Amino acid sequence: MSERSGTSPFISVGAGLPTPHQCFSPHAAAPGSESKKLEWDAPRMGERVRVLKWTCDCLTPVYELCAAGGQYFIRRIEAQRVDESTRLRYRDAEELWTALLTGWSY
Ligand SMILES: [Zn+2]
Repeated sequence: MSERSGTSPFISVGAGLPTPHQCFSPHAAAPGSESKKLEWDAPRMGERVRVLKWTCDCLTPVYELCAAGGQYFIRRIEAQRVDESTRLRYRDAEELWTALLTGWSY
């Protein structure tokens, strides 16, 4: 049995390669011509907000599913600008969240 030499036919370029970006959060799909544009309001101030879900920050806008005072809403963050959806029941907020992730709404 002949033994192969340890040299790989491929030249190793290992050093200096950037680590690929790892996305752990979902991405909102790009809206299409059929997508529904939502009404976005200015964020309310001075509220205790819990962020339940968020989209990956490698894409803008970033969406967050938030809870505050027993109600739910979506936050839309683009550059320095923050907008909020209207307040919803959890089921409706979940539905809106899915619509944003699939590109049905934006
Ligand atoms: Zn990402």
